[in-house]
Amino acid sequence: MLPRPRGILFFRTLRVAWLAAVLLFLPADLLAETSTSNVVCRSGLAVDRREELAGKLRKITGWSDLKFDRSGAMRLGANSVGGSKKARELLSRVVLGATAVVIEDASKRADVAFCQVLPGKWKANVPESRPAFVVRIDFADFENVMGDARALQAFDAGWGLLHELDHVVNNSLDATCLGEIGECEAHINEMRHECGLPQRAEYFHTYSPLTEDSPFITRLVQLSFEQEVAEGKKKKRYLLVWDANLIGGTNEDKNIAFVR
Ligand SMILES: [Zn+2]
Repeated sequence: MLPRPRGILFFRTLRVAWLAAVLLFLPADLLAETSTSNVVCRSGLAVDRREELAGKLRKITGWSDLKFDRSGAMRLGANSVGGSKKARELLSRVVLGATAVVIEDASKRADVAFCQVLPGKWKANVPESRPAFVVRIDFADFENVMGDARALQAFDAGWGLLHELDHVVNNSLDATCLGEIGECEAHINEMRHECGLPQRAEYFHTYSPLTEDSPFITRLVQLSFEQEVAEGKKKKRYLLVWDANLIGGTNEDKNIAFVR
């Protein structure tokens, strides 16, 4: 039996048992104007959040003209400067592929820790047969993360979206026990490397030692990133910390990975 992680699953995907209860019904007009892009924002995702997300993706991909158009569809950039080639490839595969992805604002939802991907279902009157997924992003969760600037650059809503898209496109799995990074985050780490950013050192976050004796009613958790500074030298470590009470996702019963 695999050791049960003390930390909590993070970016967890979904549990088949409650899958039926969370099927999302997508209206016909959602993709009507977006025939050249399979990635589209739901109407509830405010324009400033769309721009915030696009800005993070521009930094990661090096596509300075990546954007969400007026209908909410993601438009890839034409020419890249720097950034991650693998991230550009992943986004291209989704935007130009055969699967529809709808991005939803899940800010301040207690049941979403950072990001989550769920299968969508078309409404009965929609002549659509493409598989569809909904990626929920809790922007507020990312705003509650503190820590080293380099690690914060390697962990934001843009990286969260890419993680969920990797699940969709590559059917990649998350780690199931402490000490593993998991197939999906390994892909995302390759992109961080291409961007010259620290790589996530663990999939699960763990309770911070500060929590043990703290008189405060916070539940601090931490997540490590690391970067090689010189060959043969010890990697430089960067930490992120947050209060799990604010982010959610600390239910021990749900700790073990429920992966697609
Ligand atoms: Zn995942």
